[in-house]
Amino acid sequence: MLHGKNLINGRWAGSNETVASADLDGFAFAQATTEQINEACAAARAAFRPFSRTPRPQRAAFLKTIADEIDALGDEITWTGVRETGLPEARFTGERGRTTAQLRMFAGLILDDDDFLDIRIEQALPDRQPLPRPDLRLTHKAIGPVAVFGASNFPLAFSTAGGDTASALAAGCPVIVKGHGAHAGVGELVAQAIARAVETCGLPAAAFQFLQGAAPRVGVELVQNPEIRAVGFTGSLKAGRALYDLCHSRPQPIPFYGELGSVNPVFCLPDAMVARAAEIGTGWAASLTMGAGQFCTNPGVLIAVKDTAFAALQSAAAGALEATADQTMLTAAIAAAYHQGVAEFAGRMEAVTATDTVPAGGNTRQAGAAAFRIDAAGWMANPALQHEVFGAVGIFVECDDAGQMLEVANALEGQLTVTLQMDQGDEGLAAKMLPVLEEKAGRLLCNGFPTGVEVSPAMMHGGPYPASTDIRATSVGTLAIRRWLRPVAYQNVPAALLPAELAG
Ligand code: NAP
Repeated sequence: MLHGKNLINGRWAGSNETVASADLDGFAFAQATTEQINEACAAARAAFRPFSRTPRPQRAAFLKTIADEIDALGDEITWTGVRETGLPEARFTGERGRTTAQLRMFAGLILDDDDFLDIRIEQALPDRQPLPRPDLRLTHKAIGPVAVFGASNFPLAFSTAGGDTASALAAGCPVIVKGHGAHAGVGELVAQAIARAVETCGLPAAAFQFLQGAAPRVGVELVQNPEIRAVGFTGSLKAGRALYDLCHSRPQPIPFYGELGSVNPVFCLPDAMVARAAEIGTGWAASLTMGAGQFCTNPGVLIAVKDTAFAALQSAAAGALEATADQTMLTAAIAAAYHQGVAEFAGRMEAVTATDTVPAGGNTRQAGAAAFRIDAAGWMANPALQHEVFGAVGIFVECDDAGQMLEVANALEGQLTVTLQMDQGDEGLAAKMLPVLEEKAGRLLCNGFPTGVEVSPAMMHGGPYPASTDIRATSVGTLAIRRWLRPVAYQNVPAALLPAELAG
């Protein structure tokens, strides 16, 4: 049951500042005060040493217990989340499974072996000339208290108990989540589940804390607090950049891991186009409209050589987009930004679909899909068309020839993903494109669509700026734990004093 409070050092605390949720019959959520933020950060600092030194089996059991608690809450989470976000029930069921699998994956990671610690042991060489070599042993230690921002578009998998939280807890970092106003109720329910797991597993109360705050103030104060040592964020380029700048201008700068999204270009190469134009067009439309287009991996741009087959692809895609019913977006502000983005596209490109229109009255969160076309030179010359408009809008970029496709590839800014639709006869062109695209994106796909990110050890979900703020980091997959660890080397430290994993 919801109570609308913040979780601070094991205590649920209200405040005088509240925000009423229109989706939950005006239920009021207390916004974290400055004093509460400071208290939470101090408690996280105090919890850091005991929590980071808990035996790994205990932390693994904690992650599994959180997963069990979330499973037990299943229907309540779904029922609340559907009302808050407009996402369908099936999406909540699926995302819940992904979230609990993620928690269990990180439990397995820290239990199974030491690989995630990237241990290096160099034994002493006392007789080495001209100088002896000391005994050197390197492992990775938890970085400190971590702040996590819940994402609007993934109420479960990228929010309160999402990938950032799971990986940071696995690493041994206390976590303070700043919930997202788009799903304050789901956030609180999940926070309650984690609080129960903290108690069951006998961990410090401040191993996990949860603050509501539908205003920039809470996030700004949180990332500037000197006790916070790293930040995980998923959201817009504008907010992500503002928070990144704050983190790097602190007296003690800290890493800010922002996953900010991209337009995820899809290149359709000539043989694939001839063989599968309509199939690729409808597949692209299905990926573009999934979840009202509110995915960071949404394939917003499709690039190919202008010919009759590309015209057929566009026509198949347009038919599929027009047949897709309008969908409810996550918040009124996100819907308004989408309508504005589509209107700006309409002023600069040729419409391929009867475009999205702003609903008159009624549900201001409803939005329809839309697609536009432009020649490659026009697209490359216009940076505003290369940025993400969050929602189900796509652009067809028409090239004169394969050479111009390569020019487009070279001109791309950083992306989370780039996709090649290709057949065997396209391999020569693909071989020329891949070295370019490797520099542009964190994940390269052939013959699929980028939505639906596998959560697994070989996944990379990040990319060069502006896709993310740290080119080396991923927010999905087991490598995500690296963000919350820092290397520590031990030189000539007696075996009895070494961390257990280095003592052998
Ligand atoms: P957002 O505006 O970036 O907000 C994300 C988080 O940052 C929220 O908790 C928000 O707090 C906080 N925040 C916003 N502005 C801030 C600032 N100046 N200083 C400190 N904190 C700030 O993202 P959103 O609400 O999820 O959606 C808005 C837009 O973000 C979308 O239209 C879309 O363009 C983009 N987006 C992209 C992705 C992606 O994966 N690519 C995902 C989600 C959203 P409050 O809400 O409490 O103010």
